[in-house]
Amino acid sequence: MKAIGIDLGTTNSLVAVVEDGRARALPDEHGRVILPSAVAYADDGGSVVGYGARDVAAERPHDTLLSVKRLMGRTKAEAEAEGLSTFSLVQDGPVLKIEAGGGQHTPIEISARILEALRDRARAALGEQISRAVITVPAYFDDTQRQATRQAGRLAGLDVMRLLNEPTAAALAYGLDKQKQGRFAVFDLGGGTFDISILELVEGVFEVLSTGGDTRLGGDDFDTAVATALLREAGVEPEAASAGLRRRAVSAAEALKIALTDHFEARFTLVLDDGQSFDRPLSRDQYETLIRPVLERVAGPCKRALADAELRPDELDGVVLVGGSTRSPFVQRFVAELFDRQPLCDIDPDQVVALGAASQADLLSVDSELRLLDGGDVLLLDVTPLSLGLETMGGLVEKIIPRNSPIPASRAQEFTTFQDGQTGMDIHVVQGERELVADCRSLARFRLTGIPPRPAGAARIRVTFQVDADGILRVQAREESTGVEQNIEVRPSHGLTDAQVEEMLQASLDHAEEDVMARFLRSAQVEAERVLMPLRKAMQVDASLLSEDESRIIAHAIGQLEEAMGGSDHRAIQDLTEMLDKVSAGFAQRRMERALQSGLKDVAVDDLEDELADAPVGGGAHD
Ligand code: ADP
Ligand code: MG
Repeated sequence: MKAIGIDLGTTNSLVAVVEDGRARALPDEHGRVILPSAVAYADDGGSVVGYGARDVAAERPHDTLLSVKRLMGRTKAEAEAEGLSTFSLVQDGPVLKIEAGGGQHTPIEISARILEALRDRARAALGEQISRAVITVPAYFDDTQRQATRQAGRLAGLDVMRLLNEPTAAALAYGLDKQKQGRFAVFDLGGGTFDISILELVEGVFEVLSTGGDTRLGGDDFDTAVATALLREAGVEPEAASAGLRRRAVSAAEALKIALTDHFEARFTLVLDDGQSFDRPLSRDQYETLIRPVLERVAGPCKRALADAELRPDELDGVVLVGGSTRSPFVQRFVAELFDRQPLCDIDPDQVVALGAASQADLLSVDSELRLLDGGDVLLLDVTPLSLGLETMGGLVEKIIPRNSPIPASRAQEFTTFQDGQTGMDIHVVQGERELVADCRSLARFRLTGIPPRPAGAARIRVTFQVDADGILRVQAREESTGVEQNIEVRPSHGLTDAQVEEMLQASLDHAEEDVMARFLRSAQVEAERVLMPLRKAMQVDASLLSEDESRIIAHAIGQLEEAMGGSDHRAIQDLTEMLDKVSAGFAQRRMERALQSGLKDVAVDDLEDELADAPVGGGAHD
């Protein structure tokens, strides 16, 4: 079964697939590969997607939903504060809805309609059932926005194999991953948004070094600027023009822009409200003068993105053009000047993201065509750049998913309680290669409560780490006898640059020896505490079972061990722990016998419970 790649765009969406070793965009029944990201709702609840919807947008502006991608994973308050939409928004609990066609629709549902249309197109074009897909998202999308996109895919009956960053998809379409390494800028100027991303390729995996852009800048702004200027020239004040005239002027400006992409001169023609027609030729130079102020707004975000990645333009290995607006020779020349090099633009900039998504979808399939062509050694799987683990007693790290594990990855490990009667356990999720928690990066914490009070080491708590294909980590802790569980989701790569990963790896090498010593010491201390703590308590509670001599010997051994624990000699601690175990063995034996006689299997659990609720993960009974 084929897997498809989908570019779910703000203005336009596409679907592509790899066939005969090549990615190609799939056309609709009229041969058009682009599907406008528009959904029009009728009062009877029916809906139309694509060109049919976009064409009625002017007549039915409130029922035709455009640019819904801007609202994915957002609340009404956010959307209004950022001026993201002109539609009528309703906040229903945690869910944002948009009113159209007499009903209310969530951005996820609306996006699902677009995805369904693309899925149906792929089914028709390929003549087979299609359900597996890679969907692209902007590199700056946060977890909520990504989850919303994934849900839209699911709602459209798709099995979303992976969400892929749009700039990464474009880089894949150009085959930039075939190089050993490199740094690339991906310049994406669409209809209403501008995104710039700096990527670094390391061992076949693209990392996003920085992103930037302007969510209110795109090709549509060229059209508005030109329409405004030319209306004025025609003697109409743009503010005073009728809505219909303004719309016609913007369409005429877009037609002019597209014509000037292939010709040095083109005509702007517009029928005014009084029936007169305004018609004038425009050269590329004249056009460029009109749009220059808009075009120049891309410069700031590009410079900032480079600065954030700590790169100069000449340190880049390539610049990739994405988005319909980068077809314009003006835009191409401006980018060339800005980055001081000729950008890559051989692949259709409308299609490049979808084509890259299709390649990725193919590579993620068992029967991948591209992998076969490549001799099977394409290294496209994402990996965890750093180990993921848990804090255990003594501030030590237990690594659950080691670094460089291919994702998706899943591992479980069993832990137990450290203290008698312990009813809670702190789960502290950390990232890094170092042995001590203090030297790693803290990702998240949560607490598992409701563990039934039992002697230390009796409870079984299974902790599962799962990293999905998008790099999202889910940690679940579950007490096996009662089934009580808690979980948390984090994105381990969030806010982490490549340089920081590199630094963390280097630090683990630099400190390898002292880290091992620190681990030995902490482990010995934890082990000692495990023996000491119940013994101190027992000496108070069961003093009657001790002879005076015995009491003195044990107290002396405790004193020696406590002193050693303050030092750094882990062997001394181990030896003294063993010694203490030996001298208190008789006492332990008598306590056990007495407990059995009185029918109490668990030792004085009630007394202990209240003060013992706060320990982190205890020992590691591994599997
Ligand atoms: P998005 O990523 O926002 O979905 P696209 O990448 O499809 O958008 O780009 C749409 C923009 O590209 C529109 O502003 C459109 O006018 C512009 N565009 C399309 N074709 C051309 C062309 N030949 N020359 C210049 N601009 C174009
Ligand atoms: Mg796009």
